[in-house]
Amino acid sequence: MNKHIKIIPFGSGSTGNSMYIEIENHRILVDMGIGMRKIKQALEKHSRSLNDIEAIFITHDHYDHIKNAPAIINNTKALVYCNEETSEYMKNKNIDYCLLSLNDKKEVLEGLFVEAFKVPHDRYVYGYLFEVGNTRLAYVTDCGTMNNKIFNYLKKADVVIIESNHDLDMLENGPYDYYLKRRIRSKNGHLSNADCATTIKKLNDLGINNFLLAHLSRENNRPEIALNETLKALDNKQVNIYVCPVESDELLEYRISDSI
Ligand SMILES: [Zn+2]
Ligand SMILES: [Zn+2]
Repeated sequence: MNKHIKIIPFGSGSTGNSMYIEIENHRILVDMGIGMRKIKQALEKHSRSLNDIEAIFITHDHYDHIKNAPAIINNTKALVYCNEETSEYMKNKNIDYCLLSLNDKKEVLEGLFVEAFKVPHDRYVYGYLFEVGNTRLAYVTDCGTMNNKIFNYLKKADVVIIESNHDLDMLENGPYDYYLKRRIRSKNGHLSNADCATTIKKLNDLGINNFLLAHLSRENNRPEIALNETLKALDNKQVNIYVCPVESDELLEYRISDSI
């Protein structure tokens, strides 16, 4: 039996984040920082629609993750899940939502389980582990530091979507002012290419072969630099790895053979 995961990364990075994910028979959206029309068009390109989305998961209330929430939610029948801090935004916008507790495996749709875990950032961020049968996908962005708790969720996944935000040299020599550079580098900022590569190497050593690099900085990173850093850490070993473009309407497909 093969496991099936399909992803349309509508957008990724500080200009806007939103991803459509199919995990077996379930169809979900993570974050809503991309315009409704773009999402609709990309879904239609692949014979899918906003109506198909059953549940929406929000990582946190930074503008690049939430700015199009009202428009998108008004055009779906999906249930919306978030943490307490993000729920304040939902209340202000009169949007119905469900709160997810930390570290509590919850069946949100028939056969779709989700566990939320805390990610260090300068807002309250949730990472997610989604599970349908024995197919699992982990999602972590806006992550200042990788830690064992997060890693223990990632290592259960078949596909890991992980932030590879900046190249340390590009950040250091780039256009941002001292305080913004310090914020990005801090323990509550964003994960660098180097930290992402180290994490992926450790996950690959445990047998995980499917990755998607996300939330790349437009100013302090390039897709080829992020990819090369990870491939170098893997010693150019063959893995399924994609890099999220800033905007995209492509459908990525992961077919994972269940070889036990
Ligand atoms: Zn962000
Ligand atoms: Zn953020």
